[in-house]
Amino acid sequence: MRDRSGTTQVTLKKGQADPALFALLGELPRESIVEVEGAVHRSERANRGIELLPERVRLISRAEVPLPLGVVDKVPAELDTRLNHRVLDLRKPSVRAIFELRAALLSGFRQSFIERGFLEIETPKLLRQGAEGGATLFPVQYFEGRAFLAQSPQLYKQMLIGAGFERVFEIAPAFRAEPSDTVRHITEFTSLDAEIGYIDGPDDVRGALEGVIADTIRSSREQLLRADNPLAAGLPEIVVPFPRIPFATAASWLDRTDLSHDFGTEDERAIGEIAVERFGNPFYFLIDYPTAVKAGTFYAGRRDDDPSLTGYFDLDYEGLEIASGGPREHRLDRLEAQIREAGLDPASFSGYLEAFRYGMPPHGGWGLGIDRLVQALARLPNIREARLFPRDRYRLEP
Ligand code: ATP
Ligand code: MG
Repeated sequence: MRDRSGTTQVTLKKGQADPALFALLGELPRESIVEVEGAVHRSERANRGIELLPERVRLISRAEVPLPLGVVDKVPAELDTRLNHRVLDLRKPSVRAIFELRAALLSGFRQSFIERGFLEIETPKLLRQGAEGGATLFPVQYFEGRAFLAQSPQLYKQMLIGAGFERVFEIAPAFRAEPSDTVRHITEFTSLDAEIGYIDGPDDVRGALEGVIADTIRSSREQLLRADNPLAAGLPEIVVPFPRIPFATAASWLDRTDLSHDFGTEDERAIGEIAVERFGNPFYFLIDYPTAVKAGTFYAGRRDDDPSLTGYFDLDYEGLEIASGGPREHRLDRLEAQIREAGLDPASFSGYLEAFRYGMPPHGGWGLGIDRLVQALARLPNIREARLFPRDRYRLEP
């Protein structure tokens, strides 16, 4: 018998047990729900050191046969089959363990942010325009007009810095119409966003990010060890500060001289191998992203001493991008110029820009993909395994 606490052996001995009970349990399909009452005995051979000798059994819900997906099968099923029958798949203790890790990370992040004086916020997910480029926007019919699903809370968390909230965080869904089918993209993901006012350069943002990650992984490990979760052992020892690798240095590792476009998946993997070998830390920052690479990110803050570079960074884990962030441009005139440079019209951002008109401190923050972090920490080959009911170009059900 299995429940959320684990599996317990129920033993019926032929000849000794009530024949009616024997007949009932003998033909009962796997995964049915039963209530069993009986005497608990010590047993050397049973997995918890105990077994239950049933006296009364009540069948609560009979499972249909055959099961479309085995729960205790040794042979692994294809991911597609597993996701098609996700409720049965989630019954596997090894799959449930992923979501216990996920929940521990979420509560760890909340606790760490609260201890650091951050306020939890919730920003709109139905928007008139996007912040992360038009290509991945999902339009939705909105009464007589059109709206878009939020790709990130970017503009709103900055506006709340303008509102004087100073330190905010949000854990919420983000939507991106990702046309390509990869193991690291889904169309609905959970974004952990933070924004911090009165920063003194990008390292204030990186320091906060590595700090909350360190707190969160430490507290999650303790919590999961107490719960005997097998994923606890795989969580890394956190050593801060994480290494900081300039974009140009990483490019030179790949013999790349053109610094005007972003690293692709293969580049990120190759950089990850070198970085982890060199610095011995699965986490590392790629820093000083060139302005040319961040051309579409109109709100990115550029370096005053060298405007060809932004203060932007990515946080990667063994070659997988987990987060992106940096200081923002907080001066209205420069922000408007950057919006125009990105080929956009400042007039369509008037609600956002108003937040910069009446006093806006220097600020910065990041967006971190919770699903990517779970994928990395649980060593999942596919990000879809990190979500209960993942959504992608081809999957809207179950
Ligand atoms: P990538 O280059 O990997 O497509 P991105 O740079 O476009 O990601 P950002 O705009 O920087 O993504 O978003 C911040 C974080 O949100 C990313 O670092 C990643 O962890 C997560 N993220 C972004 N898009 C997706 C997606 N489609 N599926 C899952 N997580 C995502
Ligand atoms: Mg990014």
